[in-house]
Amino acid sequence: MKSLFDILLRRSKCAHTHALINTNEGYCPDCGVFLKKYFYIVRCSCCDVKREAKVYFGDILPKEKFCTNCGSKDFYVEKLDVISFIDISYAIHTKEIVDLEHFDFANHQVWVDENKTVQMKFLGKCV
Ligand SMILES: [Zn+2]
Ligand SMILES: [Zn+2]
Repeated sequence: MKSLFDILLRRSKCAHTHALINTNEGYCPDCGVFLKKYFYIVRCSCCDVKREAKVYFGDILPKEKFCTNCGSKDFYVEKLDVISFIDISYAIHTKEIVDLEHFDFANHQVWVDENKTVQMKFLGKCV
């Protein structure tokens, strides 16, 4: 499992390294922001199978170009608050800053096609 945060580390002052060790949400002991752990899973748009994900310049993309199950190129990225043990090997996890006043508790889903990049709304906000 790769952490997207390893990549963001260079862009933000605090890496929140000591935050969310045993929890899914809480305050960072180093900078005091409220953080929440999110998981991203890449799925095939055609057959819905889970595809191995990679982080490429801040975007979450499937590792392979084509779905090994149906041969489709299209995929979407699913954002989850919690994840099952089985899915953990597929998931990319992030520690994202939560704006508690505007926090939307509904599940987010981010849809992409091959020409668009994933809109990573909460990422890169840690300055
Ligand atoms: Zn921090
Ligand atoms: Zn497929």
